[in-house]
Amino acid sequence: MSISPVDIDIVRDTAVTITFEDDVVCTFPVASLRAACPCAGCQGLRERGEIAWPRPGQGHDISVVHAELNGAWGLSIEWSDGHNTGIYAWTVLRGWCDGGAR
Ligand SMILES: [Zn+2]
Repeated sequence: MSISPVDIDIVRDTAVTITFEDDVVCTFPVASLRAACPCAGCQGLRERGEIAWPRPGQGHDISVVHAELNGAWGLSIEWSDGHNTGIYAWTVLRGWCDGGAR
C-alpha cells in the first residue's frame, strides 16, 4: 500500500506534521523522529541494543536543518547534529502514526 502526503509542515525544533491524502494528520516530535532514524547506521545500533540517538555525550537538543522530498516515497532530513542519512518513507511514517505515535 502506498499513501501520499498532501501537506508537510515542519517546525524545525518542534515537530513535523504530515497531512496524508486520506485527510489523516500525523504530528511527529522531532526528537522522536531523530531517535527512530531509519538509516542503516541507526538501524544497526538498534539491532545491537544501543540507542541510536542521542549517542553518549550528545545533548538532547535536536532540530531539522534541512528537509527535502526523496522522490515520491519519502522525506530526507538533515539534523542539527549533522546526521543526514535517514530517509523517512511515507509508509513508515504513516505506520508510526497509525501505531499510536502521533
Ligand atoms: Zn540514522
